[in-house]
Amino acid sequence: MEHFSTIIIGSGPAGLGAAFHLLEKGGVSVLLLEKSSISSGGLRNDCKQNYTYPVGFPEQLWSHSEAEESLREVRRYLEPSIVKKGDIEIYRKRAFAMGVELLDIEQSHVGTDKAPALINSLIKRLVDGGVDVRLKTEVHSINYEHRMVVLDGGDQISFDNVIVAPGRSGFRWLQQVMDENGVSFTDNSVDIGIRVECTANNFSIVKDYYDPKFLFPYKVRSFCTNSGAAHVVREKYEYYYSVNGHSLSSKRSPNNLVNFALLKTIELTDPVASGQHFAQILGQMAMQLSGGVPMMQRVGDLRLGKRSTRQTFNNDLYNFEPTLAGSTPGDLSLAIPAKILRHIWNSLKMLDTIIPGVLHPSTILYYPEIKTYANKPAFINRWFEVLPSFFMVGDGAGTSRGITAAWCSGIRAAQRVIETFGN
Ligand SMILES: Cc1cc2nc3c(=O)[nH]c(=O)nc-3n(C[C@H](O)[C@H](O)[C@H](O)COP(=O)(O)OP(=O)(O)OC[C@H]3O[C@@H](n4cnc5c(N)ncnc54)[C@H](O)[C@@H]3O)c2cc1C
Repeated sequence: MEHFSTIIIGSGPAGLGAAFHLLEKGGVSVLLLEKSSISSGGLRNDCKQNYTYPVGFPEQLWSHSEAEESLREVRRYLEPSIVKKGDIEIYRKRAFAMGVELLDIEQSHVGTDKAPALINSLIKRLVDGGVDVRLKTEVHSINYEHRMVVLDGGDQISFDNVIVAPGRSGFRWLQQVMDENGVSFTDNSVDIGIRVECTANNFSIVKDYYDPKFLFPYKVRSFCTNSGAAHVVREKYEYYYSVNGHSLSSKRSPNNLVNFALLKTIELTDPVASGQHFAQILGQMAMQLSGGVPMMQRVGDLRLGKRSTRQTFNNDLYNFEPTLAGSTPGDLSLAIPAKILRHIWNSLKMLDTIIPGVLHPSTILYYPEIKTYANKPAFINRWFEVLPSFFMVGDGAGTSRGITAAWCSGIRAAQRVIETFGN
């Protein structure tokens, strides 16, 4: 049977962070397994990289100084070109007056069209450095007791350490891995929200700040702003579609639209303890109401308390077409629980005071945008070990919520491997 000191599962930023750290420190053989032909997730989609704590970092797992130290390492590999910001002081002042925080973050933006080249160059550097990278190789299961992974075709490979980084979309598989190996977990939080699409004129802050991060009361935050050539997209989950957004790298086919998410974090308590089940119920309800696809509503209709319809969707004031045209014009207030809608609408009103225009009647609100955080494994230490030499990192394991933090999570696991097994 083949043997490696460390097997990494998943070539997203968490897996890459671990692989590069191990390569740099040396002394351990590394196998990186990826089921796709190129890593999936945010590295390939839009690829905005945030370099300021706490964006992307669950604060209960990361202190400011820990995050900043790892981010320095991420910068060395990703060599970000930080987007310059214009004068955002006026927005910050207006936000502050209402109890809203505008984070001043350092960010770079690659763009969906340029991301594959970045990923391929990273993989090449790993291969050139001696990491065994196997794409299109899906891991079926992990047998911790016998320290081996089982590939989809049945092949077995043994390890001293395994770093599991399957991302958010791999959460069912991660659950199976936890069940089969007796790893305990919690699952009580979920982010539920909408994606806003409007003309760039009505969200003019993007001229000065590519992806402004606003923190509103009641755990609502703005997230993942796209502009220039921006599109709303949908992602298929088992029982529903969630919307998302991306944009192309620069001025190619600009559409003068902006999209961003407004998400509310829900922490569930006993007796409803599963964030994923809650998300599934809400996602299914939205699909039921809109014929199996996401729904969309113009702000003008929501204000008047009437549903948007296909006949009226692009009339008169409604001066731009939705980029996710396959969505059903409908009524968000039928689908979103009252508390969530109230807090999101309240945040939108505050945002409209900070950046007048965003609540123009033409603005489109898409629903649902759902971020599940999978079942959070119960870690036995700060190195994200769930059992000795068995690590779970990245968005799927709840150690991050973004590209750079995922990369940092991989670094942290790799640091432990080096400490225990390195030269
Ligand atoms: C459309 C979209 C746009 C986004 N845009 C941004 C953005 O601009 N900025 C940002 O910071 N974040 C963004 N994100 C979030 C970002 O993608 C994640 O935070 C980040 O990719 C998480 O990294 P990860 O390594 O944990 O998981 P992922 O990047 O999802 O990587 C997991 C990898 O594991 C592989 N895998 C899963 N199961 C197996 C298995 N059994 N065997 C082998 N391989 C497996 C998957 O194929 C995948 O390549 C976006 C996400 C999406 C979906």
